[in-house]
Amino acid sequence: MPIKVLSPQVVSKISAGEVVERPASVAKELIENAIDAGASEIRVEIRQGGRRLMRVSDDGCGIPQAEAALAFARHATSKISSEEDLSHLTTLGFRGEALASIAAVAQVSMVSHAKGEESGTLLRVEGGEVVHSEKHGGRTGTVLTVENLFYNTPARLKFLRAEATESTRIVELVSAYALACPELGFRLTDNGRLVLQTSGSGRLYDVLITVFDLQTAQQMLEVQLPEHVLGTDQDSQASLLEPRVKVTGFVGGPSLHRATRNYQMFFVNRRWIQDRSLGFAVEEAYRTLLPAGRHPVAVLSIAMPPADMDVNVHPTKREVRFREPREIFSAVQRAVRRTVIGQAPVAPAISQPTAILSEEWVKRQAVPFQRNWQPGAGRVQIALEAQRTADVISPGVGSVPMLERLPMLRVLGQVRQAYIIAEGPDGLYLIDQHAAHERILFEQLEAEQNAMSVSSQALLEPLTLELSPQQRGLIEPMLQQLASFGFDLASFGGDTYLIRAIPAALNPEQARAVIAELLDASREGAEASGPPQRPVLRGDLQHSALNIIVCHSAVRAGQILTLEESRELIQQLEKTTSPYTCPHGRPTMIHLSSVQLEKSFGRR
Ligand code: ADP
Ligand code: MG
Repeated sequence: MPIKVLSPQVVSKISAGEVVERPASVAKELIENAIDAGASEIRVEIRQGGRRLMRVSDDGCGIPQAEAALAFARHATSKISSEEDLSHLTTLGFRGEALASIAAVAQVSMVSHAKGEESGTLLRVEGGEVVHSEKHGGRTGTVLTVENLFYNTPARLKFLRAEATESTRIVELVSAYALACPELGFRLTDNGRLVLQTSGSGRLYDVLITVFDLQTAQQMLEVQLPEHVLGTDQDSQASLLEPRVKVTGFVGGPSLHRATRNYQMFFVNRRWIQDRSLGFAVEEAYRTLLPAGRHPVAVLSIAMPPADMDVNVHPTKREVRFREPREIFSAVQRAVRRTVIGQAPVAPAISQPTAILSEEWVKRQAVPFQRNWQPGAGRVQIALEAQRTADVISPGVGSVPMLERLPMLRVLGQVRQAYIIAEGPDGLYLIDQHAAHERILFEQLEAEQNAMSVSSQALLEPLTLELSPQQRGLIEPMLQQLASFGFDLASFGGDTYLIRAIPAALNPEQARAVIAELLDASREGAEASGPPQRPVLRGDLQHSALNIIVCHSAVRAGQILTLEESRELIQQLEKTTSPYTCPHGRPTMIHLSSVQLEKSFGRR
């Protein structure tokens, strides 16, 4: 669509308001324009928190020469032309206000070359007026440079936060768009330093590693689509069940949690939005799985018909109004719940690779599922799809207990020195001894830590630790934390440290390995975090320390367990609050139900 000025009637429908509040709001508008232009590479360059300079370059469709100046007029847009278009927006922008607003408060220049045109345009705009225009070569795409933001509005300038704060906001913003659009390559430099770069591979997991870090990404679970959407269920009429609202993304395993909600991001049709009820839906799905006061990590994209939401609520478009908020809420909650517990009481590998829940488990889910549960339907298609028709699960009422205790298990033996085989009330269980022990130790250690009573063992003969100068710099700030885990570590002068006490769960050799691994982890953390504004979403040391200790002290695969030891392990596992997953969110066991057994032997 060519750019044209909207009619006053349409303009009046668009909520008035300021778009440009701070440098990050400029970045947001320019990035959105680049995405709307169909770019595959988007580069953002900022200097002095974006105030001195912000440049966004894209390889999108560009602006035709004839329309270049019009792009800076108020309410000029190529994205909608009638009021009716507002109800089925597929672009991020539509108000036709951003470039005009930005040009009013900064010195702007634009080089744009439209696809198919022989040459492009260079424009300079100051105080909202085009002060210079000429033909310009260059590749297809647009480079928008915004300099000296708020130079002519000193009042605004006064309210800007410190440069670092503004930079952080921009890093956060680019990270968010990188997560929303894994198929686009983003590159952000701050004062000439590369802060963030994504490949545009299309794999969200890759972006998670870049934006968070490897360790956090590894603890995240990909949101599982319901079976009928995957098309694996022959019985259901896939097309009829195609949901209108599709939730994809990654959420943290139950072992991944944070002190704030800042690690929950929501995108609706690629728009990064703020919506408290979505955060609530996610938190609900983790009920009782996380320690009190901790919050899950989630990166969720919601795809839905544009007509079912109203973006035209707030000038910055960060808030949207859903036509059916409850539908969205419950779609998110179901998707997260399915993913988080999908890792738990399911038998992933025995017969079919898709999630099969034992009938016993299904029965225990009681009321909400019963009507969809058909006895003898070997493949129990319950999942949480039964809730498709059910209402949003409100806390307390009909809510499925996330944490199922283990049934009583009778240990039969050990397989491959790695798995304990046991019989339960409904079939066979194969338990991963390492994962199970990790879960046990994790909960024990965490409880001890919360009670500030970690058991520690004094060493008769202290261990010595020779550290490099770099490691010394890393270990000093960790000493207090190490003490909280039961380590007593002190400098012995020079590069030598003495370990006088270690956590009771470890032997001296393991203790040494734990410290080495913690040092590595904190070095990687320090290196990866680079500039101070980078730790946008970094995992905390406390948590990784817990995981490292647990991993080193747990029994390994390859260790022979006596029947007695296996029984002890299972008994302890029964006492944990989430016996079905290890602290990394992987399953501790797989289950072959009696029905599956009988079916496999052709008895049913
Ligand atoms: P809106 O995005 O709401 O349409 P803007 O003021 O942000 O309003 O942009 C005005 C118009 O300028 C857009 O509709 C689009 O046609 C054009 N435009 C702006 N930025 C770009 C870009 N990076 N690439 C191509 N076209 C652009
Ligand atoms: Mg725009």
